[in-house]
Amino acid sequence: MNDTQQTKGQPDLFPAALFGLCPRCGQKTMFASVTRFADRCRACGLDYDRFNVGDGPAAFLTLIVGGVILALALLVELNLDPPLWVHILLWVPLTVASVVGALRVSKAMLLILEHRNQAGEGSIDRDEADQ
Ligand SMILES: [Zn+2]
Repeated sequence: MNDTQQTKGQPDLFPAALFGLCPRCGQKTMFASVTRFADRCRACGLDYDRFNVGDGPAAFLTLIVGGVILALALLVELNLDPPLWVHILLWVPLTVASVVGALRVSKAMLLILEHRNQAGEGSIDRDEADQ
């Protein structure tokens, strides 16, 4: 199933990932804390525990965000030459917010895609056994 073949009531991928919407009912129930999934949807009961998103996006996001922040810090340093405390005040919160925000959106996106594609451990084996 792709984005154009959604069933009724399912939110679009990007708004759902951005706001942590349940892929089945569209309620804002996906996250229990900032980056931790809830056990299940409080509205429709969809079990979030059965999806295995893993830590795949964390390393890539940290490297990408780190590269962007470093480039911005170098630009600020070379053009404005601010004192060290300005760098600390700017880049520490921005780095944390960027990594956490990107991690939250990417984890939500992976969970939504797993739900839409009915992906899971052993699903390829099950499909072959059905034939
Ligand atoms: Zn739901």
